[in-house]
Amino acid sequence: MARYSDANCKLCRREGMKLFLKGNRCYSDKCAFDRRGYPPGQHGNAIRRRRTSGYGLQLREKQKVRRIYGILERQFRNYFERAERQRGITGENLLQELECRLDSIVYRLGFAPSRKSARQLVRHDHFQVNGRKADIPSYPLKPGDIVSVREESRNLDVIHEALKDAGRGSELPWLRLDKAKLEGELLERPKREDIPVLVAEQLIVELYSK
Ligand code: SF4
Repeated sequence: MARYSDANCKLCRREGMKLFLKGNRCYSDKCAFDRRGYPPGQHGNAIRRRRTSGYGLQLREKQKVRRIYGILERQFRNYFERAERQRGITGENLLQELECRLDSIVYRLGFAPSRKSARQLVRHDHFQVNGRKADIPSYPLKPGDIVSVREESRNLDVIHEALKDAGRGSELPWLRLDKAKLEGELLERPKREDIPVLVAEQLIVELYSK
């Protein structure tokens, strides 16, 4: 996500939907997509009127998911291949893989206002998994894994501010959040209907199956 440092809102306008990349701003009246929900650039309005082909739709869906989770193309492809090898529905497996990354879980639990911020906090070594050092944002969590804020980081304002505003962790049935202990647990891999991401992941499967 760091690669798109000052252009996050343009990505939402380009994709035609809110990708929720900027924390609280996304829920405020400052949201650029709410104010100008057409593609950026001089001809943004005209672009919106253009018809998109089947391939174009598939490509856009993939870009949306990559941008929501802040994943580079090659890494995304790896996630897809892993999802394909698993039992079940490939598109759902793909979203599960992405949701179970450590940075995504930190965000979902409400310890960070956005995935970008979660990634930074993880890299700066503010979290543990099952009591052990965990500073790799892509670290894959398994059901039963406990994510906690490190003792040395328990007074960080950014974490407490994020927890105040967010209800994400307590609302998702596949996560358990203990605000007092500053820890959360991945209870199970999320079912598709419990992943609040508005994308048609089947289009990504079709794209990569060509
Ligand atoms: Fe997207 Fe709005 Fe958040 Fe900007 S503020 S990243 S446009 S949802």
